[in-house]
Amino acid sequence: MPPPPETGTFLYNEPTIRFDRLPSVMTADLKYLLHYPPAVLDKVRALIDEDRLEAWLAARYADRHAIQTDAALYDYVNQIRQRHLKNAPPLSRVAYDSRQHPVHGTLGTNTRVARVQGSRLKTKHEIRVATLFRDTAPAFLRMIAVHELAHLKEREHTKAFYQLCQYMEPDYHQLEFDLRLYLTWQDIRSSPD
Ligand SMILES: [Zn+2]
Repeated sequence: MPPPPETGTFLYNEPTIRFDRLPSVMTADLKYLLHYPPAVLDKVRALIDEDRLEAWLAARYADRHAIQTDAALYDYVNQIRQRHLKNAPPLSRVAYDSRQHPVHGTLGTNTRVARVQGSRLKTKHEIRVATLFRDTAPAFLRMIAVHELAHLKEREHTKAFYQLCQYMEPDYHQLEFDLRLYLTWQDIRSSPD
């Protein structure tokens, strides 16, 4: 998977997609999945065409988590940090953010803000998670939490970055794929036709 062009964000609509490698499906409908091999996308298209995607997702991701407030989200993300990334910098803020949305190309961001405190320059780390994750399966919240936490140590989407994600969540790659399927289904469900 090629690294997205921006750092610290979870980006879609990768501009370096090679159109000659796209499968023979209407790719606009699969915009969250363009990184994946054509054979995989053909299977996704089959799930959609046969009206099985909803049931596929429901069988795996019907449950919902209880992390509804920013305070609860902070505790949740910070617990993962303390468990797996003890030497990562502390988080000053973790919040749901309605400005993070796949339509805008982001599901979460990780910012570091340098502030002068007395005679010292202090860096504050903040994580923002798209509000849509408030109403998803626990596994998807965990996936985005792990993704943004990994950015505390690796800014780019490098091999080391994904290894860190997998260290925190062994199923990371599957969850990221399934989340993209979920977003695809949300788009299909909300489209007028
Ligand atoms: Zn990222």
